[in-house]
Amino acid sequence: MKYEHVLVAIDLTDECSPVLARGREVAVRNGAKLSLVHIVEPMAMAFGGDVPMDLSQLQQQQFDQAKDKLAALGVDYPEVKLGDSHLLYGQPRQGIQDLAKQQNCDLIVVGSHGRHGLALLLGSTANDVLHGAPCDVLAVRLKKAE
Ligand code: AMP
Repeated sequence: MKYEHVLVAIDLTDECSPVLARGREVAVRNGAKLSLVHIVEPMAMAFGGDVPMDLSQLQQQQFDQAKDKLAALGVDYPEVKLGDSHLLYGQPRQGIQDLAKQQNCDLIVVGSHGRHGLALLLGSTANDVLHGAPCDVLAVRLKKAE
């Protein structure tokens, strides 16, 4: 069975290179379409929900920076066609799974850290994405967190 549409979830940190490289490799080998997704998480959530200040400007800056980084990746990865880099706002697990459904992706590629318990095999986001994923999930092992 060949994959037809590979969705690579990237956190836009330095660690996303091996995840992207593996996603590209699988897509090229399968002759599949390659899409990228990054989810910008609401800042208020990181602070526990109730924040007594207006974060909208900071949030916009974060969104703009992510947009620039995604655009730069598009230059390095010409296999990702115009319109196939998705920048969404929300919660990573939900955003990645929903997009995979909408776009009929048959493989999601995520990075995974060695942490503790089950997380020895799957990083937390990878674990989250796997549960309830609409398709196969490839967890690319990243270097162990220090
Ligand atoms: P984590 O478990 O949060 O360290 O992340 C592991 C992997 O989940 C990353 O390598 C990405 O593939 C994916 N991921 C984490 N955060 C995001 C995000 N905000 N948007 C898209 N993918 C993400």
